[in-house]
Amino acid sequence: MAVYNPFRGCHKFSEGCKYCYIHKGDARRKIDTNIIVKTKNFTSIIDKNNKGEYKVKAGQMVYMCFSTDFLIQEADVFRNDCWKMIKQRSDLHFVFLTKRIERFMECIPSDWADGYDNVTVGCTVENQKELIKDLKYFLNYQ
Ligand code: SF4
Repeated sequence: MAVYNPFRGCHKFSEGCKYCYIHKGDARRKIDTNIIVKTKNFTSIIDKNNKGEYKVKAGQMVYMCFSTDFLIQEADVFRNDCWKMIKQRSDLHFVFLTKRIERFMECIPSDWADGYDNVTVGCTVENQKELIKDLKYFLNYQ
């Protein structure tokens, strides 16, 4: 198992964000969570060692974006670079969760139909109201 956090920061978005652990941790460290920035790990999934081998070994599950929401709007400018790296690493399986599933279609790359079997998308829902709203999107994406 590996972790990939290419960028960080998020805005509270729905009732389920009330106890967001990212905001809590950032508040303790006096970091403004509302500023979305690339991390120094942006390219970590394609970084190589001195032997020219990927540092992140093949065959792993990679949990993505646990200090942001992958579909957050401010990341639109650099998400495509993430998709390219994800496609390049078809030997890994990526998992991310989002509260912004309604943005999914505008956030996927133009070549989504050609590859990306190595990506699992999850949507977190906190109550019946959100479930009804988000399920509608999920079912449309089938
Ligand atoms: S969407 Fe997720 S990361 Fe963003 S504020 Fe809500 S709980 Fe936190």
